[in-house]
Amino acid sequence: MFSSIIMSCRKAVLPPQVQVSLGTVCSINLFEDGTQELYGEIFSFLKSIDHIFNVNDSGAEIYSVNSYFKTGANSAVEVPELSPVSISPVFHSVLRKALDFAYATDGAFDPSIGPLVKLWGINTESAHIPAQFQIDEILPLVNYRKIRILDSGEGKSLLMAGKMSLDFGGVAKGYAADGIVEILKLRGVKRAIIDLGGNIYAYGKKAPDRDWAVAVRDPQNKDGAPALVISISDATVVTSGDYERYYEKDGRRFGHILDPKSGMPASDGIRSVTVVCRSSMDADLLSTGLFVMGLQGISRIREKVPDMDFDYIIIMNDGKIHASRNLENKLRLLNDTYTIYFN
Ligand code: ADP
Ligand code: MG
Repeated sequence: MFSSIIMSCRKAVLPPQVQVSLGTVCSINLFEDGTQELYGEIFSFLKSIDHIFNVNDSGAEIYSVNSYFKTGANSAVEVPELSPVSISPVFHSVLRKALDFAYATDGAFDPSIGPLVKLWGINTESAHIPAQFQIDEILPLVNYRKIRILDSGEGKSLLMAGKMSLDFGGVAKGYAADGIVEILKLRGVKRAIIDLGGNIYAYGKKAPDRDWAVAVRDPQNKDGAPALVISISDATVVTSGDYERYYEKDGRRFGHILDPKSGMPASDGIRSVTVVCRSSMDADLLSTGLFVMGLQGISRIREKVPDMDFDYIIIMNDGKIHASRNLENKLRLLNDTYTIYFN
């Protein structure tokens, strides 16, 4: 009798919930804290973020910002005679971080990659290889140094050269995952797995004496089998790989991460970069940036942004895996055709 009263007071626990948002499949598992209400709160939060950063949604903030500058003078050399456009606090904070990271990576990560993403037709049905002259024409429009954030006292506004456009595809999911973690903390959730299209946050501990085991995909395996497993708690695991979204022609693979210097898909012998750290936004920026910079990017980033505390796993074309020493006791290799080198 007594226990049945307790049972009826307790809210029903739902299984993990999945929805498409931020252009990807988002799956949330809140385990024993998984109420309808909490899942609802998380998915509406994701929707609100999508409504800011979805470049293909004409109702999104980024879409109107980009449309505004589309009408500007055709000059990426000088900022044209446009007045700035005001931006929301969330837009500002992501842009600020992305810009700082662009400076730190000397433009390997560039939030003004928009025109190039469009030219290659990335994330659309019409992905194709553009002609060199088209790339040459577009490249001057990709330049984070031409972005200015102004502070009017009442709010922030943005100014950039005409025809430039922003793309936060390499950072928005990380921002969203951190936002969900904030909600979980606020609501006293003990443990959860957030998976925003491979951008994973393993929140809390799996059990008091057990870490989560997070799989890192094997880029050589078409069925999505893992290459290795990482044991972690309260950490994010974010991967940028050339197998997630790509375009294939004549046996050549063109990935969706572009090198802003050449205008071509980045390819430095890297198949995937996985970053492990506390901040999912940092991890998202880092995985995309390192994919462009290659292995030598690690020491540069450690020097330029020492407050970004991160570990990495980089899977190369030649079967080598480079990982940070900190992960030595946390990794389990599942495919022994790979060799791991700890640095
Ligand atoms: P995914 O979105 O597959 O998880 P990433 O986080 O690495 O992978 O982001 C890739 C996306 O970032 C691309 O689809 C594009 O929108 C954008 N992008 C591509 N190249 C760059 C770059 N050099 N700098 C910043 N953003 C980029
Ligand atoms: Mg990223």
